[in-house]
Amino acid sequence: MINLVPSWAHNYDAFWDAIKKRNLWFIKLRYGAVVLLSLFLISSDFMLGVKFTNQQVFALTAINLSILLYNISFHIYRRKLKTIPGQFNPLHFSLLQMILDLCALYLLVYFTGTIESPLYMLFIFHVIIGSLILPGSVIYLLSVLIIAAFSSLVILEYSGIIIHHTLTGFLVYPIYFDLNYCIAFCVIFAFSIIVSVLLANKIAHQLYRMEQELVESLKKINEAERDKQKYIISVIHEIKSPLAAVHSYLEIVLDKIIGPLNEKVEEKLRRAKLRSVEAFGLIDNILKISKLRLLDDIKKEDVKIDEVIGSLVEKFNDSIKNKNIKIDIIDSRESRKILKADKFLIQMIFSNIIGNAIKYIGEEGKIIITLNDNDKMLEINVSDNGIGIPDSDKEKIFEDFYRASNIKSLGYEGAGLGLSAVKQIVNRHNGKIEVESPSDIGTEKKPGSSFKIILPY
Ligand code: ADP
Repeated sequence: MINLVPSWAHNYDAFWDAIKKRNLWFIKLRYGAVVLLSLFLISSDFMLGVKFTNQQVFALTAINLSILLYNISFHIYRRKLKTIPGQFNPLHFSLLQMILDLCALYLLVYFTGTIESPLYMLFIFHVIIGSLILPGSVIYLLSVLIIAAFSSLVILEYSGIIIHHTLTGFLVYPIYFDLNYCIAFCVIFAFSIIVSVLLANKIAHQLYRMEQELVESLKKINEAERDKQKYIISVIHEIKSPLAAVHSYLEIVLDKIIGPLNEKVEEKLRRAKLRSVEAFGLIDNILKISKLRLLDDIKKEDVKIDEVIGSLVEKFNDSIKNKNIKIDIIDSRESRKILKADKFLIQMIFSNIIGNAIKYIGEEGKIIITLNDNDKMLEINVSDNGIGIPDSDKEKIFEDFYRASNIKSLGYEGAGLGLSAVKQIVNRHNGKIEVESPSDIGTEKKPGSSFKIILPY
């Protein structure tokens, strides 16, 4: 099997994708060409005043039907074609299509007047497409064959060795026996073909190279990001151990094992302990996010979303009761398909969203969780009537460390990392997350927020 793959395109997925797409494009275009040729055959008499001979009608119809037949076969065969180097691959398939098209075009040009036929232009169109797909040597060889075959036809018709099929009614007088015209035509035809191939081939080569360089750069950026995350994880682990030591010393002192404490010192130490707990929370969040960014694959397990949400609400039960919050779960799902997702990560999404709703509701309030779905996706809405999110902050709250402007003076604890992790998890599942504030259960004083998460089934 001849090797048509340029050396730079081995193992280059984008190259093969482009070739496959172009093969399909060829096939679709050919259906269009068959329709156009049929219209040309039917309407050229009254539109252009062209009178075909019986032989021409028979030949053109037969060529058109052959094109349709081989195109249908190509259309069916295309799906079975695999990209295995050394075997018949999409590039051989392109070459085969081109060769058959060129043969069909050669016959069409011959039966419509060769040098007088306007269809000769389609040769140029073919070599441009060929240049975008095939290696230079193959397309140059094809171009030379096209020029030689076309010129031979012109010479054979001029010298009367084969008959000339004129398009009666198209030209005022035939031109195929004008030697000067024939020579000038063939030279310009050859020149146009060679220049088109030269330019198209060069541009295609450059484009592929640039695309490949872009893919390589993207790979390097991803690798650098992974190294950065690994570095963060190791640094954070290093920070965790001295912090744990400080925390346990504080506990020992606060438990008064070493001795009594005066009130002022005790109060300051309790605050220090609280801050160390906060720091642990922050460390955990950073670790979770870094690990998430390192994960290449997410699991695809069966996730029962009602159970996940039910158990999270139970987990938050103490805070819900302490803050006197009313929480409703409205399950309006219809298709109730099983969600295929990473259960741990889905729990992380709703733990953050429900946890935030409870945190930012203040004392007393209402949370409504609704579940909806259709055949393709699951939609979960978590609405609260808490402090709400100012318009100017809505987009930014999904960024690392971002906290909305309205909470700063209110003393809510947090690091601004939860929603950034949520957004990453949702993206990893090809889902979407949107926020609205005020929510539909908000009031003027407590506008509330509503988070909508869409996950594909
Ligand atoms: P954190 O809660 O730790 O600050 P998050 O990333 O979870 O970080 O949230 C980012 C910001 O989005 C919060 O600081 C808060 O300003 C805002 N926010 C998130 N959820 C709500 C909510 N339910 N109501 C009001 N504000 C919210």
